[in-house]
Parts: sequence; C-alpha cells; structure tokens
Amino acid sequence: MKEIILAKYGEIALKGDNRSTFEDILSRNIKRRLKHLGSFSLNRRQSTVYIEPLEEDIDIDSAVAEVKKIFGISAIQRCAVFPKDFDAVTENLGYLDGALAGAKSFKVEAKRSDKTFPLKSPDIQQKLGDAVLDRFSHLKVDVHEPEVTVRLEIRDNGAYLSAKRIPGQGGLPVGSSGKALLMLSGGIDSPVAGYMMAKRGLIVDCIHYVSPPYTSDRARLKVEKLCEEMTEYCGDIRFFCVPFTEIQEKLRDNCPEEFFTVIMRRMMMKIANKICEREDYGAIITGESLAQVASQTLSALKCTNAAAEFPVFRPVIGMDKTEITEISRKIGTFETSIMPYEDCCTVFTPRHPRTKPKLSDIIDAEKNADFDKMVDEAVEKTTVKRFKFGERTVFLD
Ligand code: ATP
Ligand code: MG
Repeated sequence: MKEIILAKYGEIALKGDNRSTFEDILSRNIKRRLKHLGSFSLNRRQSTVYIEPLEEDIDIDSAVAEVKKIFGISAIQRCAVFPKDFDAVTENLGYLDGALAGAKSFKVEAKRSDKTFPLKSPDIQQKLGDAVLDRFSHLKVDVHEPEVTVRLEIRDNGAYLSAKRIPGQGGLPVGSSGKALLMLSGGIDSPVAGYMMAKRGLIVDCIHYVSPPYTSDRARLKVEKLCEEMTEYCGDIRFFCVPFTEIQEKLRDNCPEEFFTVIMRRMMMKIANKICEREDYGAIITGESLAQVASQTLSALKCTNAAAEFPVFRPVIGMDKTEITEISRKIGTFETSIMPYEDCCTVFTPRHPRTKPKLSDIIDAEKNADFDKMVDEAVEKTTVKRFKFGERTVFLD
C-alpha cells in the first residue's frame, strides 16, 4: 500500500495576491528538507501540499517527522492511496487501526474530485461510515464534534484515505519575511528567540561575540553546536563570530564598573548594526526577557535600544523562564544551552550593576575611549561560517 503526506497550510491560506510567492517558498523548503530521504513529487491543491514519494522504500515516518518541523504547515495527514474502487478501500480499513482503535467517536468526510466516480459524496460517506462501524464496533458517529474524521477523497489518480491529523509547526515559511541577525549567546533564551522569529518567516543567521582568553574555545563550540541544532527548524544558518576582547578590556579600564554590561550590550548592537548594513539583514533579534537581569530592565533596554539602527525583535520579552525553557526543550537546544561554559557577558560582570542607568550618563562614559574605531576593527576581524541543515560536526562532552 502506498502512503503519501498531506501538508495543510496555516496562515498562507489567508494571503491574497502574493500567496503563490509563499507557496513557492514553502514547496522549496519541503523539497530541501526531504532530499536526504529520497525523491518526492509535490503538488498543491486547496491549501494543501500533496507530498508523494517517488521511490518504493522511502521511510514515511521519517518524512513526517521532518515535515512536522517545517514552518508554514499547520497540520499533517498521512494518507493511503488505493485504486478508485470502493471495495479496495473497505478491504483495507486496517490502515485506520492506529487512528481509530483508541477513539470514541468519528465521522466520515468524502470528496469526489473525479466526477466520473459512480458514487456521489453523500453515498460514499454513508457506505464508508457503515464499513468503519463494522470493523470498529466500539465507535459512535458524531458529526458535530468527532474525535477522528476519516477522509476519503476520490481524485483523478486514486482514492485517498486518511484519518489522524498531526499538528504542524504553524507560522510562515522560512524565507518569506526576509532575513535577520540573531544575537546568539550560549544561554537558553536566544536560541528560542531565533526559533520564534524563524516561525514568522525570517531567515535567521547568528552573530556571537567571543572574548578569548577570558572565554574558551569550547564556549564558542557550544554556540556553534546550538547553531547546528537550530538548523532543524531554521534551515541553513550563517554564523558570524566577533572578537570582542579588546572592546571589553577597554571598557573595563575606562568606564565605571556599574555601566559595564549596558555599554557592552550597546557595543554588541553597534557591531550588529554594521553587519546588518553590510550583509543586508533587516532586523536584529535578541533573547532578552523583561527584568530577567539588570541589563534587561526598562531603563537598560532603553540604553541598548538607543544604539540599534535596525528594528530589534525580542520575541521572549514577555515570557518567563519556565515558558522559554519549555520551548527550548521542545526544539532540542536545552541540553546544550545548560552546558557550563562561560559567556563574554559573565567575564566582567559588575558587582553592582545599575538597574536604572540614564542614557546620557552612559553616552558620557563611552566618551572615555574611542569605541567607534574599535567597533569597526571588530567588524573587520569577524569570521563567518555556514551550518547546513542536518549536519552534525560539533561534538562536546
Ligand atoms: P541567553 O539565555 O540568551 O544567554 P540571558 O538571559 O543569559 O540570555 P544576557 O546574557 O543578558 O541574557 O543576554 C541577553 C541577550 O543578549 C541574549 O539573549 C543574546 O541575544 C545577547 N547576547 C548575550 N551575550 C551574547 C554573546 N556573547 N554573543 C551574542 N549575543 C549575546
Ligand atoms: Mg546569556
């Protein structure tokens, strides 16, 4: 028996004139994502992509697992394809065992796209409903709120039988909203922030600041590993690694300790601005959450934001740690995030950071050193790497 996958769009279905642009990007993302499993044909119809394996031995379980991670798809259905013969369908109702054995109620929905098929939709519904009740006598019909909807669609090239709907990731296809630069630290929050913005259709690339010898090579590798893990949802990721030691030392030697963190974050922003300008990113993403630490109070955020020249997206700003952690576990970055390597933020942590810094005081303090020149130098020395979807090259114990 041949199985195919139906991927239903979510929000794309609501798009108007430019809908086909979103559909093209979604199809491309699906193709790319499934390539390693074999070849598939993709056809779109009625807000659904029909994903059909073109080789005999393709592993459908793995294909479904991949499709579940693709943004832009709201629900997924596995579907068995039979010849257009009603008996061929009813003889194979065992296909529905997994979906119906544990259910209490069901209904049948039939669609006859091929009008030459002798039974009309209401007749198909009636007859298939009876056949289902014969096999699964514990079930009740509930046309209003069924636990499972059994669908049979008679199409030109076969009869398609399906039952269970699996939730998809939702959101919009990666690449349909442009591209943005995620400030990725080794913590729990920023990978989650990247996931959330990729879900809104952004290509997410990452920028990370390192301060050797205060931060180790392993700390950088940990962040690279996070990038690899994020490709599961975000697709390929470019990784910019910025040498930040000189700026931090200059800051330590020339600015009041209570302002260290805020000035440091402003310098990160200034470097991110330049990379965005040069590489054509439309926004900066951070994993800041309001009031989580001293550098994320309203006053501190005002100071950081004043250094940004691009829109700054902070998707986890209103979430607490438990909520962020839950997503982090779901997307598979949590275990890496909690590995105990130092971040440059923790290197010169002030003993008493100012929780209500004033922007004018911060700007005055920055005049003690030629930070603009150092920002330019750091941008020049920034290195770039690319992490490809599915590749695993970074190993840490
Ligand atoms: P996270 O869990 O993401 O590390 P956090 O709660 O530890 O966040 P901070 O260390 O104050 O918070 O950092 C706030 C945000 O600043 C991070 O979410 C990230 O976007 C950015 N950031 C911090 N350190 C770095 C770094 N070394 N490189 C790149 N971005 C960073
Ligand atoms: Mg951090």
